[in-house]
This record gives sequence, C-alpha cells and structure tokens, in this order.
Amino acid sequence: MAEIGPPERAWFLSVGAFRSPSFALGQGAGLGALAWLRLSNAILVIEHRGGDVTLVDAGWSEAQCRAPLREIGLLQSLLLGVTVREGDDAKAQLARRGIAPDRVRRIVATHLHVDHVGGLDDFPDAEVITTPDELASARARGRVHGFDVARLARIGRLTLVGLDGPARAGFAATRALGPGLTLLDARGHTAGSVAVEVELGGTRLLHLGDAAYTLQEAEQDRPSPLSRRTSWDGPRQRETYRAIAAAVHQPDVVAITSHDPRTWACVEGKVFART
Ligand SMILES: [Zn+2]
Repeated sequence: MAEIGPPERAWFLSVGAFRSPSFALGQGAGLGALAWLRLSNAILVIEHRGGDVTLVDAGWSEAQCRAPLREIGLLQSLLLGVTVREGDDAKAQLARRGIAPDRVRRIVATHLHVDHVGGLDDFPDAEVITTPDELASARARGRVHGFDVARLARIGRLTLVGLDGPARAGFAATRALGPGLTLLDARGHTAGSVAVEVELGGTRLLHLGDAAYTLQEAEQDRPSPLSRRTSWDGPRQRETYRAIAAAVHQPDVVAITSHDPRTWACVEGKVFART
C-alpha cells in the first residue's frame, strides 16, 4: 500500500443522484410513501499532508455521466433512477477545486457495486482498496447482484486488505490504513462492505457506504424494503446497524451513508479541516 500522510482536509461530493420512491426506503406514510426522493451518491474526498488525495468510493465515471444510457445501460439506469449530467463525475468536480486526477493515489471502495466504482476509470494512478471477501463475492454473484466483474478485471489495480484489527465500538473488526484513516467491518449489505473513519482534529468523519441506505433504518433497526431486497446477509446487516446506531450518537462523529438525502444535506458544501 502507498505511504500517505495524515488527513488535513476532507469534504463530500455527490456524483449525480438517484430517484427513488419513498416507500422503497421505508419513508413517508399513506400517500407520502408514493413521493419521490432524490438520493445522493456521496463520495468522501480526503486531502492529505503532502498533497495526496484519497477517495472513499468513486461514483460514476466521466463517460457514464456523459452518456448514462449507453455506458450504464438503459435497464440499469431506469431501475436505479440514475440522474447524472456531464460534469457530475468526481474527476470533473475535483478539477473544479483545482485537484488533478494524478493526485488521487488511493480509492477505498466501501463495496464493489457499480454505482460506487464506475469512476475508478478516471483515476489511473490510484490503487483501489477492497477486501478479499468483497472481491470473491462480487466474482461469484456478478451482474444480477450489481457487480460488473469485467470492469473490475479490466481496472486491475485492486489491493486486497483483510480486516484483521481489533473490534471497535460495535464494529466486529478494523484495519488501520495509515494515520487518521481506519476501515471498519460493515458487512451485511455485501460480503465485504467496509465503513471508513477519518480523524480530523476533534471530528471523526464516517462514510458508511450502503451499510445502511439511511441512518434511520439503522437507528430504528428496521431494514427498508430496498435493503431487504438487496442485502447479502440480513442478520449480519442488523449487527452492523447496531454498530452504526451507537456510533452516530457520539458527539464528535459526522456520519453519512452514500444515498441518504438527510445525511447528505448535513454535509453538502462543508469542508472539514484539521484544527
Ligand atoms: Zn450497494
């Protein structure tokens, strides 16, 4: 793994959005359950001392944002309610903040579903961190379960990292990736899902990926219809929910999931810096 300095600043961006009916996320009641929600596809950008950048997830690629029906696929785009435009991709958004793609040295995939790893194409200098369990499961389960194995094979810059560190605060295992950056075992949504914790001065940022679609389903310990339909292991996911529910009540924690509109609203436009 690349040697990278401690985190100096971090911020979130969303690569386009998804449209989803409220009832799929277990939100709204009565006619309100038929409303449409606009979901984020949130990535965490970490700028390190020395200038290197780590991304947590990569969203859709430049090509996928330019031509989603062709590059993601008509059926998949419609099923997921993908709403992207040219310039929504992480590379373009980083460029607007003065960050060239070659500064991105590392991308941690919370898991390998297509909407989290499309943008790997745009950062050829980045090593991609995932777990052995996640890659094995993606290969076994394939496209029908949301993995594009051919794309992963083509990218080929995967570094497999096992979570062999001690349990912490309800998460069953951990792995330190370097100063201020820790992977947390968040299995359940997929076989090797991880959450990523970034320590920045007095704040701990927690990117939970799809370990829960919304914090609400974790806090209420009630999987949404979408979670029930997509999760790899329901009981295992409920254990992760309990760890999430405990973590988000810590006063120094800012936690988001990839697609929760409420957590996205709390971080949009904010820069977290070491003080
Ligand atoms: Zn997912």
